Amino acid sequence: MEPNHQNLIRSNYTTLVKKMSAVPVAGFLYASNIITDEMKQQIEVEKTSYDKNRKLISIILRRGPSAFQGLKRALLKANQRELSNLLIAKDDEDVTKSDYEKKLALARSLVVCTKEREAPESQPRKQIDQEKSPEPRCRISLDDFNDIFLTAMPYKDVIYIHIRHFTENNGRFTPTKKRVTFPMDRWLRFESLLPEIQKYLNNIGNGEREERQWHVGGGVYISLTPGFQTVDIRHYWKPEDAPEPVPTKKGVTLNHKKFTRLLEVVEQMHNHVPELKDVELCMLSESHQNQLGMLNCPECTPFGYDPLNVSMECNAGDLQDVETLNI
Ligand SMILES: [Zn+2]
Repeated sequence: MEPNHQNLIRSNYTTLVKKMSAVPVAGFLYASNIITDEMKQQIEVEKTSYDKNRKLISIILRRGPSAFQGLKRALLKANQRELSNLLIAKDDEDVTKSDYEKKLALARSLVVCTKEREAPESQPRKQIDQEKSPEPRCRISLDDFNDIFLTAMPYKDVIYIHIRHFTENNGRFTPTKKRVTFPMDRWLRFESLLPEIQKYLNNIGNGEREERQWHVGGGVYISLTPGFQTVDIRHYWKPEDAPEPVPTKKGVTLNHKKFTRLLEVVEQMHNHVPELKDVELCMLSESHQNQLGMLNCPECTPFGYDPLNVSMECNAGDLQDVETLNI
């Protein structure tokens, strides 16, 4: 661990020793390979919570370069946010970053690269009654032809972000089915990938050959294909007999120009949707601290495990097909 990080822990030693709950923190540190099973047991075997905390800190101070960030993450996962914040607020490196940037970095560390992973099992999803949609918060064009837009739209008091194609008819712009829907925490995970996608698209000419795909939540996957300067953002669904989720027609493909435009207007959208600053990642919530919680989360496990329910391709807010917008 870096000396400045050690100092930061030492300067908060009294609070950490008094308030930390070492056993769950040790569990998460072990799960992320920061400490060994033996070290975890050394912590657990201590009699008082004070001694357990002291043991954990003395071990963590001697661990490698990822131990400090690992401890902060473990504290967050163990619902000890105030303690994790102690280590954020005074961290030299972190001080220059905004809270949202830190959240983006955390989101990025949690986004799963799905090409290396087996598809999750199936999971039930409730159909939500269709309602008339209110006015959009913003509608920002991503090309010069008023064909594709980044929009933010409230639906049943929740804000959803969309990238969607529109058709024009007598001055009226109507959204089409070609669109992707992002509840806010899904957007956060997507936004955390933007720099990597940009880098990939920039490197296409230099022989970028690896296929990439990420699951950003719900049925939405982001795919990059070697040789194509495009990013495919698409809802997938899993037919009952299919081993893996398959792409639907619901999605958009952005070429490099549209993607660059998206990068440019993200900040603008933040001005319209200040709530993004307060969005919490479901992976860090208490309900996700056991496997069942993750399996029951439609964002983390969109194609859940109940074979009786076959309607799994819709998310709340995905039903905003009907509204017609006047420009
Ligand atoms: Zn979740």
